[in-house]
Parts: sequence; structure tokens; C-alpha cells
Amino acid sequence: MTIADENRLETPLTAPGEILQTGAADYPGLDAWRQLPLKQQPDWHGHPDFDDAYEELSSNPPLVFAGEVDKLKDRLASVAKGEAFLLQGGDCAETFDGVTADKISARVKTILQMAVVLTYGASLPVVKMGRMAGQYAKPRSSDMETRGDVTLPSFRGEIVNGFDFTEQSRIPDPKRMVTAYHKSASTLNLVRAFTEGGFADLRAVQQWNKGFMENPAHARYEQIAGEIDRAVRFMDACGVEFDGLKRTEFYAAHEALLLDYERALTRIDSRTGEPYVTSGHFVWVGERTRDLDGAHVDYLSRVRNPLGVKLGPNTSPETVLELIEKLDPAREPGRLTFITRMGAANIREKLPPLVEAVRDSGAEVVWVTDPMHGNTITAKNGYKTRRFDDVMDEVRGFFEVHRAAGTYPGGLHVEMTGDDVAECLGGSDVIDESAFDARYESLVDPRLNHKQSLEMAFLVAEALTQ
Ligand code: PEP
Ligand code: MN
Repeated sequence: MTIADENRLETPLTAPGEILQTGAADYPGLDAWRQLPLKQQPDWHGHPDFDDAYEELSSNPPLVFAGEVDKLKDRLASVAKGEAFLLQGGDCAETFDGVTADKISARVKTILQMAVVLTYGASLPVVKMGRMAGQYAKPRSSDMETRGDVTLPSFRGEIVNGFDFTEQSRIPDPKRMVTAYHKSASTLNLVRAFTEGGFADLRAVQQWNKGFMENPAHARYEQIAGEIDRAVRFMDACGVEFDGLKRTEFYAAHEALLLDYERALTRIDSRTGEPYVTSGHFVWVGERTRDLDGAHVDYLSRVRNPLGVKLGPNTSPETVLELIEKLDPAREPGRLTFITRMGAANIREKLPPLVEAVRDSGAEVVWVTDPMHGNTITAKNGYKTRRFDDVMDEVRGFFEVHRAAGTYPGGLHVEMTGDDVAECLGGSDVIDESAFDARYESLVDPRLNHKQSLEMAFLVAEALTQ
């Protein structure tokens, strides 16, 4: 045997979990969605740039690897068993201009700060996930938007069209999918550098929380913050040097709404020969597109990523059981996460039948609360907003329902930012409508700002330690 032959034998073509294939996956059934009812898509297949954009995406490298995706599924399996807690946070809609080092680091920092507080509250590891690096497509309640006497196509997220209310900007442009891919790649690159390069060192994160605690508005959290501080200093004094202190896993998630994008970025894992969506680690189906016989549920049933499904107040127990059958027929723990968004006024009545039906069926799923989307109101001055108190009330209701059913409240899904915006009402550093004109930045839904996000984490920690 020559040296070249030996090398060939000893060097596998691909490392475990690598995807070196170029071109959208060719796999039986992956195109079945094209024949099914498909909601919330732009009509752009006749666009002169569509084929080039689709081909370019298909030949680009994957954004995430199958091995990482499988690791996340293992982490989520721990959440399903009640041995970890999931924190998902980020913008309602990412923007191309928002891909800056400052904004990304502020958001990642805020999620890490929240995670430290929740780790303490839950006495459990926290799986950290951003609505980031791909959260560019938005479902809309109406195809058209009218302002005064002008009616134009609705804004569908920057992966589809522009936010400016002009005819030109609202025309769907497939080249935007390629821009979204590159923006996602640079976001992920920075997130990986931050979370693996010392930025996530627990001692540093704890220092950031100090700034928040110095404000008298947050005095009620002093006890928890003091306990966390002592625990971190104790570990430091003991010379604890384990890896978990210094770096952290951080996963990327988005709504898998735009199926042209997801299809083009689907690749086959070289180890198992199975398809993965490589646009992000975790993808979810939204409340408006989770029809059992629709294209979205079909497509996601055929890829191996861990999946989320949003469940609103009109969801029936039968639907939930059928979703499990379709999306998790093998009952793999970690495969399926239900993200409930009932509204504070509904959760105590609407969630129990769903949780009980799943519990009684024996399926193991992750239950997460999204306390944002069922609590959206219009402020007196016309802005879309949410009251911090309603958001917290839904979180409390979520814990109450799970405690009563004997099931595990596994996580929190929030729209938040690391910046000092004014989009949600309330919090200890009170935000009212008068701040919206100057500090409302979101293009779609209102987010908790940096302080509101941390305050929520402390309140949840309080609820978890009670
Ligand atoms: C969202 O998460 O921004 C969203 C649109 O949620 P839902 O599908 O729950 O309405
Ligand atoms: Mn939203």
C-alpha cells in the first residue's frame, strides 16, 4: 500500500457531522410541499432573478453543521426531561442594517446575562438560543397595507421586500435571499467568536449584571444578584477553571417561513445521508402556517433539525397530538418544542387541555412560553406595543399550569434587544407611550429592551426559586 493509499484510508472524506455537499439536497419527498397549500409566500417565481438567486444559495456553504444540530437536539432532550431550561430571544424581525458588531454584541450579551440569572433560578443549565442569523421573513395578517389612499403589498421581512412604503420597495426581490444568507453568515461568525472567545466568561457576564443592579429601580433583585455574585466569586476563589465557565454553546433559530430559502439551504449529512436545514440550528413553524396538511409542516417533517411549533389560543388538543404524529413520529426527545403564545388572559384556561393531552399520550416534548405574541395591543398613539405586566402574567400562568399538570415548564421565548429602545410599556424603569416617537425601532413587533429583558429574567428566577 502506498503512503497515498494509507492516507486515503485514514482520512475520512468528511469529519463527523460535516456537510461538504454543494447544491440543494436531492432526497425523496423534499419537494412534496410544492404541491400542498402554501401560505405567506411572495409571488416571485417568474422574477428574472429568481433562478440565479436560488442557484447561488444552493451552492453556498451551509451556515450550520449537522453535528451541531444533533448536539442541540441532545440538549433539548435534556430540557424535555426537566434537566435543563431553554432561553430563546431576539428580534421579531432582524434587519440588514442591524447587522453591526455593536447591536449583535448587545443582544448576545443580554441573552447571556439573562441566562446567568435563569441558571441560578432554575439551578439547571440553560440552553441559549438567539432569534438570530436568519430571522428575516415575517408572516402578515394581510397581503396588502393601506395608508391614506395608497395600498401596497405588505412588508414581509427584509428577505423578501423593503420596509419603505413605496411601490418600488415593496416589490419582492429574490436577490434579498442571498443578502439574508450573507448577513446571517456574518452574524453567526461574530456570535461564534463572542461565545467561544472569552466574551461569555461567567465572571465577565456577572460584572455586566452589576451595572443593572446599581440602579435603585432594581433593588428588589439585590438578593438574587448577591447570591449569584457570591457563587461566582466562590468558584473563582477556588480556582475553578472548567470550560463551562469560559465559553458557551449558543444556537441560532428562526421561523422557517420562506420555503424557497429553506429548501435551497437544505443539505444531506454525510454521516447519515439525511437532510438538514442548514440555515440555522433550530427552526419553528409559526401560528399562521402550522396547518397539518400545509406545505410548512410537510417540509419540516422531512428534515432532521429540532423543530418548534407556535400554538395560539385556538389550538385544539387533537391538533397538538396530530402535530406530534406528523413531526415526531419516532417520539425522539428534543425533536419537538411547542411554543405556546396564548395571551395572559387565556393561558390559564387554554393551555391545560393541551398540556394534559400531550402528557396523557406519553409523548415527550419541550414546552416553552412565548409571552409576547398573545399580548400585543395598539397604544393610544398608534404604536404596536405590549405591557410588561401582561408579559410577566403570561409567564406566571405558564408556570402555574405546568405545576398543576405535573409537566415541566421548559423555557422562555422572548422578543428582545440589547439596546435602550422604547417599544414595550412598563418595567421598573417605566417606559410609557411618550418615549415611542424617539426610541421605537422595531419594524414589526415590539421588543423588551435591555433592562426589561433583565428584569424579566430576575422575575422568572424568583418564580423558579419559590
Ligand atoms: C413571531 O414569532 O414573530 C410570530 C410572528 O409569531 P406567531 O407565529 O406566534 O404569531
Ligand atoms: Mn413577532
